[in-house]
Amino acid sequence: MGQGILFIVSAPSGAGKTSLVRALLERDRALALSVSCTTRAPRTGERDGVHYHFLARERFEQAIAAGDFLESAEVFGNLYGTREQDVRARLEAGEDLILEIDWQGARQVRARIPEAVSIFVLPPSITELERRLRGRGTDSDTVIAERMAQARDEMIHGDEYDYLVVNGDFEDALTTLTAIIAAERQRQPRQQPKLTELLGD
Ligand code: GDP
Ligand code: ADP
Ligand code: 5GP
Repeated sequence: MGQGILFIVSAPSGAGKTSLVRALLERDRALALSVSCTTRAPRTGERDGVHYHFLARERFEQAIAAGDFLESAEVFGNLYGTREQDVRARLEAGEDLILEIDWQGARQVRARIPEAVSIFVLPPSITELERRLRGRGTDSDTVIAERMAQARDEMIHGDEYDYLVVNGDFEDALTTLTAIIAAERQRQPRQQPKLTELLGD
């Protein structure tokens, strides 16, 4: 599918995936983020079309039935999904695209786009994961308890990913992610046109 590289980033909620991806996007203008659809209610400060496309469950279910999604999954009782058309258009335009999705979605994307590169972000410890979820201040105690209970079930799927990156020190994790992206861009098939050009000169 297309020319750009498709990166999948997953993590247990609170591991720092959103913060890391945001920092990557600020540093690398050739990277873009796929905006997911969700039935979850917007958090304070989240804008429709920027953080997510917020959809009523009925509209979301219609979109599933219409085959609009490259992947979709139920996470914490809400539906999340990535629109296939958005991904296709951007990869074909040569953009490298990041999908911030859960392990169920990652599995579906890998099955359909085997060349996708997947990265799982881990917290340095379970205690630190809970501290970050609380520190973020966006979720109620009930929601935090639910996300902590789910963290183990998500991490069990870490072995399905190409890369595991521990987000202990933020800058270290960011450097590692930047290196992974740079290395993936140098893979032989991606650089072959350049080699062909040099040999043709
Ligand atoms: P949310 O989208 O509202 O959940 O935002 P985040 O919780 O992802 O990030 C909140 C703020 O904290 C942003 O300005 C981040 O850049 C910043 N931030 C995230 N992680 C770190 C960190 O490890 N160190 C520092 N100094 N700032 C951070
Ligand atoms: P996720 O998207 O995986 O749910 P967030 O990016 O929202 O996680 O991060 C959860 C909280 O942890 C945020 O308040 C964020 O600022 C904080 N955080 C992220 N990375 C680090 C880090 N390396 N050290 C300390 N705090 C961090
Ligand atoms: P949050 O509500 O904290 O933004 O996200 C909760 C969970 O939903 C995270 O594990 C995140 O990776 C996942 N998620 C977000 N967007 C998508 C998506 O488009 N598809 C799938 N499968 N999961 C998603």
